[in-house]
Amino acid sequence: MNRRALIRNMLLAGVGASLPLKSLLASVATPVARPFHKFQLGELELITVTDGFIHMDKVQPNFAPGVAAKQVNDLLQKSFRPTDHVDLGMNMLLVKKQDKIILIDTGTGNAFGKNSGWLLNSLADAGIRATDISTIIISHGHPDHIGGVLKDDGSLNFPNAEYYISRIEHNFWMADTQDFSKSAFEDKALLKVFTKATQRVLTTIKPKLHLFEDGQVLHDCIRLEITPGHTPGHTITHIYSGGKSMVHVADLIHSDVLLFPHPEWGFNGDTDLQLAAATRKKVLAKLTASATPIFAYHLPWPGIGHARKKDEAFEWVAETYAYPE
Ligand SMILES: [Zn+2]
Repeated sequence: MNRRALIRNMLLAGVGASLPLKSLLASVATPVARPFHKFQLGELELITVTDGFIHMDKVQPNFAPGVAAKQVNDLLQKSFRPTDHVDLGMNMLLVKKQDKIILIDTGTGNAFGKNSGWLLNSLADAGIRATDISTIIISHGHPDHIGGVLKDDGSLNFPNAEYYISRIEHNFWMADTQDFSKSAFEDKALLKVFTKATQRVLTTIKPKLHLFEDGQVLHDCIRLEITPGHTPGHTITHIYSGGKSMVHVADLIHSDVLLFPHPEWGFNGDTDLQLAAATRKKVLAKLTASATPIFAYHLPWPGIGHARKKDEAFEWVAETYAYPE
């Protein structure tokens, strides 16, 4: 909760009435909670919370594998970004529709150390209990999206939720072998570890798991679109209400300054580097033409903005806020 919201809530709760303003401000000078961001989309209430971030201690080859370093570094410098590391946002989106609370992906859990796995604390700060989550959409089977499904002891973090993943994605991970031959990711042994972890999650939630096909609608406010490349069944989530819409693009794109101008440069977490680039271009072209608001899981907090045409490619125009709301 931010300072303004905290003060407002304290005043609403009557806490402030007996306190002089000075001591009230002093009592919240130290950040006591992580921020969240709430907004309306038609009749829906959307809430963004953070799961933390993923630190990458190199830009290449995580991004733009095989592209000349000078070209990548020039673009980073021109964008006032570090050339020696990248921090990926971990933006989590919730959609509230009456008694339904839909969570899209579950963060890293404990899979990536202390910089991430903050989701449960962040939800509590936003006043949401894990037991309140009714629906979880899993965009794809990577550990930074599925890692928060289970506690360390194998029990469910969200015991009342029904889970949704695309049938193609489910079948890819649950097969005896996975084809990573079109990925630029070099540590194939690590991919095996990821696969085992994903199989464990999907097996555990099987009684509550629903497999969807391209175009499935949920709760009259969600349409699921399969966008292959990052993984075979990678899914973006269209959210709509009252003539308004927004698209949660999950791992369609991991960098605002590199991959909007150069969607073809690619990301080495993509299972099929070429297909992911082609899908990235195709989806960005559509979202640019329709000027649809975008929610991006890995772009800088809070990951909300638009794609705009620039030269032969695109640019990211982040939503801005006049104050921390
Ligand atoms: Zn991811």
